[in-house]
Amino acid sequence: MKVAKFGGSSMANADQLIKVGEIIKSDPSRKFIVVSAPGKRESIDTKITDLLIDLGQAYIKKQSHEEQFSKIMTRLTEIVSTLNLPNELLDEFEAALNNAKFNTGSAESLMDTVKSIGEDSSAKILSAYLNAIGIQATYVNPNEAGLILSDEPGNAQILPESFEKIYQLREKKGVLVIPGFFGYTSEGKLVTFSRGGSDITGSIIAAGVKAELYENFTDVDSVYTVNPNIVPNPKKITKLTYKEMRELSYAGFSVFHDEALIPAVNAKIPVSIKNTNNPGAKGTLIVAEKEMNDRIVTGIASDTGFCSLYVSKYLMNREIGFGRKLLNIFEDEGVSFEHAPSGIDNMSVIFREGNFTVDKEKIILERIKNELHPDTVSITRGIAIIMVVGEGLVNSVGVANRATSAFTKAKVNIEMINQGSSEVSMMFGIQARDIERAIRSLYESYFVVKEDIVQNV
Ligand code: ASP
Repeated sequence: MKVAKFGGSSMANADQLIKVGEIIKSDPSRKFIVVSAPGKRESIDTKITDLLIDLGQAYIKKQSHEEQFSKIMTRLTEIVSTLNLPNELLDEFEAALNNAKFNTGSAESLMDTVKSIGEDSSAKILSAYLNAIGIQATYVNPNEAGLILSDEPGNAQILPESFEKIYQLREKKGVLVIPGFFGYTSEGKLVTFSRGGSDITGSIIAAGVKAELYENFTDVDSVYTVNPNIVPNPKKITKLTYKEMRELSYAGFSVFHDEALIPAVNAKIPVSIKNTNNPGAKGTLIVAEKEMNDRIVTGIASDTGFCSLYVSKYLMNREIGFGRKLLNIFEDEGVSFEHAPSGIDNMSVIFREGNFTVDKEKIILERIKNELHPDTVSITRGIAIIMVVGEGLVNSVGVANRATSAFTKAKVNIEMINQGSSEVSMMFGIQARDIERAIRSLYESYFVVKEDIVQNV
């Protein structure tokens, strides 16, 4: 039995749904189908989830909302009527959109209820369509499926008791269509995962039903070795390990939600990334272990929006508890750190710029000065992180040399290197403005020039 998850672009309009129907029909082992809300039909379009967020905001602020409401209904109507599905579906969606505003919980709870309507409608449409083309299919609400989540609106986590209940879905007849992105707390409150969370639902269902494979259908032929917006037509990755995928998706590989791997990893279920628009393409397989082939480096990921805080103090290495006290300040101020490379008398803390306001910066700097008495402390914004990822990389000779030569060739200054703390990656911090030059040069060095890296030395 397989779990197939279809992303927003696969659900965007009637034409895409017809392709999805064919894919499901072509393989009877595709029993569990998880869907996203209709996404963008073309690059300048808006996802239904974003339209729903606008509507939710208007509800929360008690503003007029006719325009947002009608934009959503227009999109859903277009799909339902092109596929010749019953109009009752539209009445149901309209009622759900209307009822959401009477949610008596917090603003976040109202927002989650509104957001969930995208996936919920999508699943109901697909289930009706599959029946119309002769496939016995049933819509299954996440509550009935057994998705019990923590009470963290907009950022919920799966609770372990879910998996036993999900296993029972195997007994149900026909194809089951489950909306992604949301579930319920044990008190019955609707909550969503973080954005892009339908991938997480798919992975949870795959782990719960002990699927042989979790297929994740999107709009690219495979995962690429590097961002195709930076390097045109880069080499494809046909197989990679969970660990490699985790590191790549952390630093900007957006094909797959970075939290979505965990349930599949725990249940050792292989994940296949496939293209709805080209289902014959091989795709990319993510597995627990792979045989080592001739390439040590699997991919190069990069992401911007990081800050680096640098602290130096003579004899820091002798001061017991310095690192803990420094990180404690971050914890107290609610800033999560990403990396903390350290030297003898200095330490850097790398974190995401997102919620690091100017006020936060002032408080943290003040506290470090007063509580840790450093010689110097400074903050650099606009940092980009580059990850060179590959199993076996740390045991190989010449990998770092290639990277540093590539940076030199591109005239990019390395602000920070972190190698060794992860078994499968090497991390570099550079100025964000240099990112494209650096990535192109690294790609050339690892994937175009013949590799002379020696393994297992
Ligand atoms: N529709 C949700 C979003 O856009 C979840 C998903 O598509 O996975 O974030």
